[in-house]
Amino acid sequence: MKKTAIVTGGGRGIGYAIVRALGRDGMNIVLMGTGPEERYENALLELTKEGISWHYVQGSIASDEDRNRLCAECLEVYGRADVLVNNAGVAPLERKDLLEMTEESFDRVIGINTKGTLFLTQMIARQMLTQEKLFPSRGHIVNVGSCSAEVSSPNRGEYCISKAGVHMLTLLFADRLAGEGIFVNEVRPGVIATDMTSTVREKYDRLIGEGAFPVSRWGKPEDVAQMVAFYASDKVLYTTGSFVDVDGGFHIRRL
Ligand code: NAD
Repeated sequence: MKKTAIVTGGGRGIGYAIVRALGRDGMNIVLMGTGPEERYENALLELTKEGISWHYVQGSIASDEDRNRLCAECLEVYGRADVLVNNAGVAPLERKDLLEMTEESFDRVIGINTKGTLFLTQMIARQMLTQEKLFPSRGHIVNVGSCSAEVSSPNRGEYCISKAGVHMLTLLFADRLAGEGIFVNEVRPGVIATDMTSTVREKYDRLIGEGAFPVSRWGKPEDVAQMVAFYASDKVLYTTGSFVDVDGGFHIRRL
C-alpha cells in the first residue's frame, strides 16, 4: 500500500522538489497550485517519466471551496491522505516599508500563508483521523515556514508575521494531534533560488558574497525537499512541534 501526500504549491520551486522527493520515496502525489495544469506541463511530465503517480488540482488554499475540492479529489483518486506538506506561500506583491504597509497586502499574505495553511491543515487532519491506520504513524504534516518567522525584514513585515504564525500553527497542531498519532513539524528555508527570490537575486548575491551565510551559496529547492521528506517519513515517530533551519547556518548569531 502506497502512501498519498498532498503538496500545496507543488508545481514549481521548493514545492516541486518536495513532490519529486516524496514521489521517489514511493508516495502518490496530489499537487495544488494556482496556475492551470498546462503551466506545469514539463514538470509534471518529468514525474510521469520517473514513474511517480500524481494528480494536479488547480486552486488556492485561501479558498474554502478549493480546499474542499482538493481533499475530495485526493480521496476520489487515491482514497486517503497520509501526508500533508503545507508549502504554498506568497511574498508581498511589493516590498514596502512597515510604515507604508497596506491592509490589502497584509490580508492577502496572511490569508494565504497563515489562514489558508491553518484551515487546510484542519481539514486534512480531520480526514486523517477517519482513516484506517495502515502505517506506523496516522499522518505527517510538514509546514514550510521561513527564517522570516524570526528574522526581521521591515520592508515585508506581513510576510514575517505570516511565517511567525505558521510556527505557532506547527506548535498548536503538534500539541493537539500528538495523542492521535499525527506528527507536525516545520522546515525553515533561508534563501533558496526559486521564482520567489528571483526579484531580489542581486541583493542576496551580494549578501552571500559578503559572507552573511556560513555555507556560502544559494540554497537549492532540493536542500529543503530532503528535510521535508525526512519529516514526512516514518523515521520520525518521536519528534513533533519541532523545526529545522535549512539556511546554510544563517541563524547562527555571530560576534
Ligand atoms: P514559488 O513562488 O517559486 O512557488 C510557490 C508555489 O506556491 C507556486 O507553485 C504557486 O502556484 C503556489 N501558490 C501560491 N499561492 C498559492 C495559493 N494561494 N494556493 C495554492 N498554491 C499557491 O515559491 P518558493 O520559493 O518555492 O516557496 C515555497 C515556500 O517556501 C513558500 O511557503 C515560501 O514562503 C517558502 N520560503 C521560500 C524561501 C525562498 O528563499 N525561496 C525562503 C523561505 C521560505
